[in-house]
Amino acid sequence: MGKKTIGYGDFFCWNCGERIEKKAEVCPGCGAKYYGKDKYSNKTALGAGGIGWSNQSRHPSFKKYFKKKCTVVLVWLIGLSILVPTILFLIGDIRLDSEGFTVIKVVVGMFWIIGLLFLYPGRNKPDWEGVVEDKKVIQKTRIRKDSEKRKYKESYTDYIVSIRKQDGSLHELKKEDNSTEYEYYRVGDYLRFHGSKYLGSFEKYDKSLDETIFCASCGDRRDMRDNFCGRCGSILLKAASVGFSADGK
Ligand SMILES: [Zn+2]
Ligand SMILES: [Zn+2]
Repeated sequence: MGKKTIGYGDFFCWNCGERIEKKAEVCPGCGAKYYGKDKYSNKTALGAGGIGWSNQSRHPSFKKYFKKKCTVVLVWLIGLSILVPTILFLIGDIRLDSEGFTVIKVVVGMFWIIGLLFLYPGRNKPDWEGVVEDKKVIQKTRIRKDSEKRKYKESYTDYIVSIRKQDGSLHELKKEDNSTEYEYYRVGDYLRFHGSKYLGSFEKYDKSLDETIFCASCGDRRDMRDNFCGRCGSILLKAASVGFSADGK
């Protein structure tokens, strides 16, 4: 049977991290069920994350996904760099003169800047730890202009999570009109920032009170009972005490 490469749903087994076989309902690698009510046997999501840091932050699955992401971005960049100038030429928007080449250079240059900015978080930063000190919701308004340049008032909401770092400084996670992180973190939560270029994400010390966990690699929200992210195949950073059990039959 072929491996699943495109479509909806998960691409990797939640239990062992293997590529999901097309049309399969059970993982041929580990025997775990992909669907159904008894997917997780009697295990509950609450408590499945355990308390303590994960010892898997250097797991090879993170590097594997990062490399794949870079390849996909590069393939898109090269593809667009060829396709868009060709289309512009074919529809007669540009000619193969010096003006035309300037347009091509600007357009293609813009693609590469956007693409490389997308990969920019991929640089190593130091790890650090801190405690969630405060959470705030702030209603704000700003002046915007519509397409006819008329000014209008727009309201939006800032969701802020303040983290006191070990060195005493404050780190703010701020999201506009998005309360996901705000709801996920509690005041008093002890956090570790993984600065590795493959991660760049936070881990909670106490994961026993959550039913879901964010993939440290792609950010997808997963069931706490999963061992691997079904979307990108990276291991989920759960407490070392919970261990890695491949007995999800
Ligand atoms: Zn499996
Ligand atoms: Zn993921």
